[in-house]
Amino acid sequence: MNKIIIAIDGYSSTGKSTMAKQLAKALDYVYVDTGAMYRAITLFAIESGCIGPAGFKKQALLEALSGIELKFKYNPTLGFSEMFLNGRNVEKDIRTLEVSQYVSQVSVVPEVREKMVALQKVMGENKGLVMDGRDIGTVVFPQAELKIFMTASPDIRATRRYKELLDRGEEISFEEVLENVQARDYIDSHRKVSPLKQAEDAVVIDNSSMNQKEQFERALALAEHKIQKNKKGA
Ligand code: C5P
Repeated sequence: MNKIIIAIDGYSSTGKSTMAKQLAKALDYVYVDTGAMYRAITLFAIESGCIGPAGFKKQALLEALSGIELKFKYNPTLGFSEMFLNGRNVEKDIRTLEVSQYVSQVSVVPEVREKMVALQKVMGENKGLVMDGRDIGTVVFPQAELKIFMTASPDIRATRRYKELLDRGEEISFEEVLENVQARDYIDSHRKVSPLKQAEDAVVIDNSSMNQKEQFERALALAEHKIQKNKKGA
């Protein structure tokens, strides 16, 4: 068995998914964006009235949880998998600022995390997987052969996210985006269940002053090294 599991964790908007996608493509591995799963549950919660400006009806979400079906379907044109919520393609709908504003509150709920982690573990059964998120190297695959922890300054991350949202036509100020990035960092790192934290054996990549090509080359070199090591059974 030469294939390995690559766990990529880190703060929001550090370019985890861009790098994970590139890595999966280069290695011919499966890519799984776990943030998309938490975002899809959040979209469900918004659309069903469980969360919104009036507050979070957690019990109502818990009652609906077993009926929520999440599936990734590979889109060969795009070259990656899209998220389907109860049979509907929600890949675009889950990337709005509204979903970003509520997602950390939903991902704090232990029952939500339990359901997501169970699904994620099944995806790793055959290895050959690049998975990104917040707790992949610590909780989902503590045995992953390669763990990468990505970070960059909040200002740089908010600038990247701001550009993405503007490109998508959202009317938003830089300050709102920065506030959201900082609020999510705080909630994600301070929650009781599976907080965002660097695994002890993770390699840290701070890409504040790295371009995409540089960070990809660094990650690919790390992956190739681990794959070789795995082949030798070391
Ligand atoms: O990665 P992305 O920014 O799309 O993730 C959205 C949110 O989902 C995060 O801010 C975090 O609250 C939650 N999340 C999580 N655990 C993961 C992946 C995402 O709690 N493994």
